[in-house]
Formats: sequence, C-alpha cells, structure tokens
Amino acid sequence: MGIFCKIAAMLGFGPSDKNEESIEKEPAVTNNRTDVKQTNTPTSGKPTVSSIKKYVLIGAGPASVRAAETLQKADPKCIITMIGLEKESPYSRMALPYYLSGMIEDTGTHLRKTDGHFESLNIVHIRAKVEKISPEQHQVILDNGDVFEYDKLMIATGSRPANCPFPGSENAGVVNCWTLEDGREILDTIKPGSKVALLGAGFVASIIVEALLKRGVDLTVMLGRTGFMVSRMMDKTAGKMIQSWCEEKGVTMILPSSIKSIEAGPALKRDDDSLTEYDLIIVATGVYSNIEFLEGSGIETDNGILVDAGLHTNVDDIYAAGDVAQGPDFSTGGQSVHAIQPTAVDHGRIAATNMMGGSAHYKGSLSMNVLDTAGLVSTSFGSWGGVEGGETATLVDKENYKYVRLNFKDDLLVGAITLGRTDYIGVMRGLIQSEVPLGGWKAKLMEDPTQLMNAYLAQSLDIAR
Ligand SMILES: Cc1cc2nc3c(=O)[nH]c(=O)nc-3n(C[C@H](O)[C@H](O)[C@H](O)COP(=O)(O)OP(=O)(O)OC[C@H]3O[C@@H](n4cnc5c(N)ncnc54)[C@H](O)[C@@H]3O)c2cc1C
Repeated sequence: MGIFCKIAAMLGFGPSDKNEESIEKEPAVTNNRTDVKQTNTPTSGKPTVSSIKKYVLIGAGPASVRAAETLQKADPKCIITMIGLEKESPYSRMALPYYLSGMIEDTGTHLRKTDGHFESLNIVHIRAKVEKISPEQHQVILDNGDVFEYDKLMIATGSRPANCPFPGSENAGVVNCWTLEDGREILDTIKPGSKVALLGAGFVASIIVEALLKRGVDLTVMLGRTGFMVSRMMDKTAGKMIQSWCEEKGVTMILPSSIKSIEAGPALKRDDDSLTEYDLIIVATGVYSNIEFLEGSGIETDNGILVDAGLHTNVDDIYAAGDVAQGPDFSTGGQSVHAIQPTAVDHGRIAATNMMGGSAHYKGSLSMNVLDTAGLVSTSFGSWGGVEGGETATLVDKENYKYVRLNFKDDLLVGAITLGRTDYIGVMRGLIQSEVPLGGWKAKLMEDPTQLMNAYLAQSLDIAR
C-alpha cells in the first residue's frame, strides 16, 4: 500500500469497503494529502477526522472561486480542490474586452490579484481536464488518470464557443474570443489597419467590437441569422440601432448567407465564389455548456445542468453553479441558463453554503445584460421581449440613438430595454425584481416611459408607509 493510501486509510478518507489489494490496483486518489493529515490530525479540541470535509470544485472561474472562498471561510480546515483545464490563474472572461482594448494587462483579468492567494487559503488549484465523474464512488477522474474523492462536489465548467457554422475554421488565423489564450492570440496578430472579420453579432461579439475599433482595425462583422445584432438580448429596434451605430463607426456588416466557407489565408469564400482575405477571423457564433463529460453520470441536463433553488442537481452531494447551471429563472419561474458573471458568483456562494449543510435558496436569476458597443450602452432586463397578454410602451429616437421599451404584465414592470441612456438602469432592475405594483403609474408610464424614476419613488414610498 502506497503512503498516500495508508494515510488515507488512517484518516478514514479511503474507500473503506475495499481490501488493500484492490486499493493498490485503483488509480491513486490525489486529494488525500499528507499536509492535510498533518494539520488535521485529530487531537483533543481539534476537529475529528470525520469532520474534515473534502470539497471538489470542477472549474476555476468566478463560480468556483466564490464557492471555494465561501467554503474556506466557514470551514478553514476543510480540503478544497478546484480543478480547471486552463493554465491561467483563475480569471474573469468578462475582463477580456478590457485586455483587448489595452486598458489592462493579462494579469488584470485575474479574479484575485495577490500572489499565492489560493495557496494561502489552502485551496488547491489543479490545472487539468476532468474526464468523468463517478457519483457512486464519489470520485472525479481526470484525463491524466488522477482521481479525486469528494464528500460534496460542485460543477462549474461554464461553456465553450459553439462550432463555427462554416467549414474551414481549422485554418491558421481563425480564433475564438473566449479564453485569455484567445485574447493573447488576437493581440499578437492585430495591429492598426489589420483586416479583421468577426463572425457573429451576439453578446460576446458586440462587446469586443469596441476593443477592436480602439486597436484601429478594419472591421467586418457578420450578423446572425436574424439579420440584426444581439438578437438574444435585444429586440429588432435596438439591434438595428446598434448595427447602424457600428456602421457609422466604419464597421462593415455582412450576412451569413453571403459566406460559403473559410479558406487558407485566412479568407472568407463568398457566395459568388470570390475570396476576401483577412489578417484574422474571430468566430463568436454562440456557446455550448460544458456538460459532455457528465454522460453516464446520471446527472440530469438540458441546455445546462438542471438545478433546484439550492443549486442541487438530481444526484446526491453534487451541485452545479454558473454558466453551466440551468437554474431558477426569476422572470419565467422555470429553469434557464443565465450566462452572466453576477449569476455565477451568486450561484457559487449559495451552492457552497448548501454543500456545508446550509439551506440557502436562490431566488432566481434575472436576465440582465449591459452592453457597451463602441460607446453605445444598451441594457435589457427580465422579459425584455414582452409577455403574452402584456402591454408595451416604447420611446424611439433613432437619430440620437435613444430607445426605451417597458413591458408590463398587469401593473407590474416585467421587462425593459434601453439604448443610449443609463439613467434608468437601477430603477428598472429595482422595479422588476421587487415586483412593485405600479397602480395608476402604469397608465402614466404607457404614455411617457421617461416617468420611470417618479413612478419608482412614488410606489416605493407608498410601500414604505
Ligand atoms: C468576451 C466575454 C465578455 C463577457 N462579458 C461579460 C459581462 O460584461 N458581464 C457579465 O456578467 N458576463 C460577461 N461574460 C460572461 C462571464 O464571463 C461568464 O458568465 C462567467 O465567466 C461564468 O463563470 P463560470 O465560473 O460559470 O464559468 P467560466 O468562467 O467559463 O469558468 C469555467 C471553468 O471551467 C473550466 N472547465 C471547463 N471544462 C472543464 C473540464 N472538463 N475539466 C476541468 N475544468 C473545466 C474552465 O477552464 C474554467 O476554469 C463575458 C464572457 C466573455 C467570453
């Protein structure tokens, strides 16, 4: 029996129902660590072996980092292993546009900036890919053969870029914009005047337009199949206004139907068989949840991992959080993937609380998007496309790039869109999330949506009385 297994057995971590021989034949369990044994050896007044919990977090993004720190704060003696497949220190993808635009260095994207932060908290960060999990044995298996045992497991593997809809994306000079490594490749390639094609006009694509323009590139954007920008978070009016804003800044728009394939160069083969060469082609045509490795685990998935309000999956002792979790949706009451960082962080904290035996509940994430596209700020909240049987008030000033849309259900504000104005953001979110009945103010807002602040103040004061 190897030293790790001996220590594991002494501590009660090892597979207790197996004889020594079978333990020798199994892959080494890696989170039965000697240092943990030394700090946690049961002595009078210290935690007993059975109280030392092993938490494994798959993923090293915002959801896992928040979960790890929550666990460590409440239970400093526990063993936390955070496994992420990227070589970086845990970082924030949402900081990538700032890195691309030159506002920060690559280290500026790191979620925690102090050297040795995770080590100092005894949070072990493993850089490797999880290949599968075995809920029966409470084990996580890596692609290098290492095995980690858990008492409680949280899956926060986020998502990855969708496959490029055109053949030829394996050509040199074709990248995604999802990881810090992608960001480095983009910056290594572009310089002022570079010709860049951005395939996609969703959230990620729209948010990096600004950075690319700041770098002085000659930018072409391929719209989605809807024919307007950010169609999954904005209505057609707003999407078209963002598009013409970009065109005014010198961006060329093309339609997917005008592209046949990506060729060496890289180049786009157009519908008339002509080739347009680029210095770089960035593919940003959507994302998929990272759930494939769960096949055969019994964990229920749909667009993501299905979780309840406590972030539990359907399998005992396994939780999911962040972009990979399909959890309670504030607006619909159903389950949605809300792939934004605030949701990931909230999920991480709540899942960690429950992993320690707590009973925290997630009230449901509000679909919430704030987008700065080359200086034009747009937002959408809740049921931004409206609800069946509901009413909608709009105020459009296309020339000055200003737009407000309010969606009501009875006298509740249930969704909103703004473009070119940031003054209502807090009020909109507040009214939607607090579900404050608007009473007579609803009719006034239908007439004049700019009365939002007055409606909010009046109704909030009424409730406070
Ligand atoms: C360019 C860009 C801009 C964005 N801007 C915003 C914004 O302005 N506002 C906002 O709220 N959100 C924004 N987002 C989205 C935001 O980054 C995500 O919501 C957030 O990162 C989700 O955190 P997470 O921890 O759930 O997942 P992630 O941050 O994606 O982390 C997932 C982790 O899982 C790891 N992993 C995946 N598969 C495996 C495996 N099999 N084994 C081991 N590890 C694995 C990954 O390496 C990673 O460490 C942006 C995203 C991008 C790409």
